[in-house]
Amino acid sequence: MQKKINRRSFVTHTVLSSAGLLLKIQGVQENSGSFANASLHKENEPALMKEVMKYRKIDSHAHVYFSADSPASQIDFADRLGIERLVISRNLEPFSGGTPEEFRRCNDLVIQCMKAYPNRFLGTMVLNPTYREASLEEIKRCVDAGMVGAGELYNQVKINDPAFYPIIEKFIDLKMILLMHSAIGRSRVVLDAGEPPNISLPEDFVEIAARYPEAMFQFAHTAGGIDWEYACKALANSPNVYVDISGSNNEAGMIDFALRHIGEDRLLFGCDNSFYQGVGHMLAANLTEIQRRKIFFDNYNAILKKSGRHVD
Ligand SMILES: [Zn+2]
Repeated sequence: MQKKINRRSFVTHTVLSSAGLLLKIQGVQENSGSFANASLHKENEPALMKEVMKYRKIDSHAHVYFSADSPASQIDFADRLGIERLVISRNLEPFSGGTPEEFRRCNDLVIQCMKAYPNRFLGTMVLNPTYREASLEEIKRCVDAGMVGAGELYNQVKINDPAFYPIIEKFIDLKMILLMHSAIGRSRVVLDAGEPPNISLPEDFVEIAARYPEAMFQFAHTAGGIDWEYACKALANSPNVYVDISGSNNEAGMIDFALRHIGEDRLLFGCDNSFYQGVGHMLAANLTEIQRRKIFFDNYNAILKKSGRHVD
């Protein structure tokens, strides 16, 4: 069970932790490696937030929920961190059958949220290729409603399953990206037996990306808990697979490693609802100014530009 934590104290704590990190980056505090000096943190808090707010950001992996505090809570976090746009979806549940009724209900929520915050949310749709006709109809309905891609697709069908072919071909025509979930949490090195069947693995992305070089795929959350070193190496030579660095398992050096294998043009900033971590590990990574701008904003906006649905 998780201990309930007051949000203000959570925010303060997290900002201060990140401030410690930033001091480390800037070399302000070289000695002892201890960042427990709260007064030092407080003095530097404005500098940290100035750094945070300096960058335009598109969160390429965001969600909305069937709960009373959503989507206001996601907007609140985004406001605090200068995230201009959030690419939202409501994914199907991992072990659900993913019927047309279920995916339409998820997409309806996203459409509602897009209407409530038209300048903040970019919607993406979920579907289930098992239901081919219903999925193709749903693509049309969602694109007409202003959505910008597919995602976060779940484990109902693997991304490289032939059932996905007509869906992927449709997205090639639309010049839009497909975001597919991958293993999370317990699957650090060896795939956990508790992962749902048909979960898409890095090698599945490699295979489908080679079959459809014109398509664009987004490999979900390297910080989701998968073996990210393996994932980055596996995807190194798949130029049409973008890799989002969202998630709640942010090990040190992950972005630096991803940068070496994936390169600065295929990495996408994202939070997957771990907002402070998502921004914090970007600032902690060894990125140039240009690389920060690309990953925070430009790379995803270039994807949107292909369908003419980019941010000005
Ligand atoms: Zn996911």
